[in-house]
Amino acid sequence: MALAHTYVCMYIENMPTVTEIEAKSILTPQKVGSLASHFDYSLNPYAGCAFKCSYCYVPSFPSARHQPEDWGEWVEVKVNAAALIRRDRTKVFGSKIFFSSATDPYQYLELKYRLTRSCLQELLRYHPAQLVMHTRSHLILQDTDLLKQFGDRLSVGVSITTDDDNIRAEFEPKAPSIGRRLELIRALSEAGIQVNASLAPLLPLNADNLIDQIEPYVGRVWLDQMRYLGANNRPDLLEKYKDFFEERNYEKVIADIRARLSDDGIPVRSSFKKSRAS
Ligand code: SF4
Repeated sequence: MALAHTYVCMYIENMPTVTEIEAKSILTPQKVGSLASHFDYSLNPYAGCAFKCSYCYVPSFPSARHQPEDWGEWVEVKVNAAALIRRDRTKVFGSKIFFSSATDPYQYLELKYRLTRSCLQELLRYHPAQLVMHTRSHLILQDTDLLKQFGDRLSVGVSITTDDDNIRAEFEPKAPSIGRRLELIRALSEAGIQVNASLAPLLPLNADNLIDQIEPYVGRVWLDQMRYLGANNRPDLLEKYKDFFEERNYEKVIADIRARLSDDGIPVRSSFKKSRAS
């Protein structure tokens, strides 16, 4: 990827270093065993993520390791993302695409670049069989008009890992508040867009309170534990909440959530295993 332009972003809080790049490709084939292996491609219009979740696994990817700055302090903007979709349009037809696997496509830089929007416009032209958007940001609502045009080929997964915004602020310091995400889930549902919730990784919470608030709007729930401990940059938080994360307690919370959702007829997917240090 060729370096085009680097600057410190002054117009949003927290100011990541932003580099505009020309990417070589934008549709990444998914291999068996990869995180999005039941998709044909993942699509990441940005590299890096200013939401800076402390548990994020992306900093452990080889492509992220060369960055001199800490996770959350840099973002690369693939300014030619839409052009690359146009170039590779034969791959889009009939494919299953996960958008995004290694960044949040609606981090605040999207206000300036509208890269995700321009990618959606291209995807609409070339008819993927399935498109799954994944975000924790209310900015996705600015593209509701486009999202609706995908009809039942599209679903949106919203990450909501706790009901407690103080916990969110500790683990996901620059990400949108829990209140915003609850509004987002409701708004997507009311717009007729299939919305699923991702409780992954599950953080300290009042589970019944969270489920009460999301259940009327979500079609499915993805439930997962804290993993990728090697990439976690806030081990102090795991220590602070060690009772919650203690294996048997954690398993019980997850089992209780799964049981309640199942009783209420909400399908749950989970890869909960005991190998927490994966
Ligand atoms: S929003 Fe997703 S990609 Fe961004 S830091 Fe959080 S977990 Fe990582």
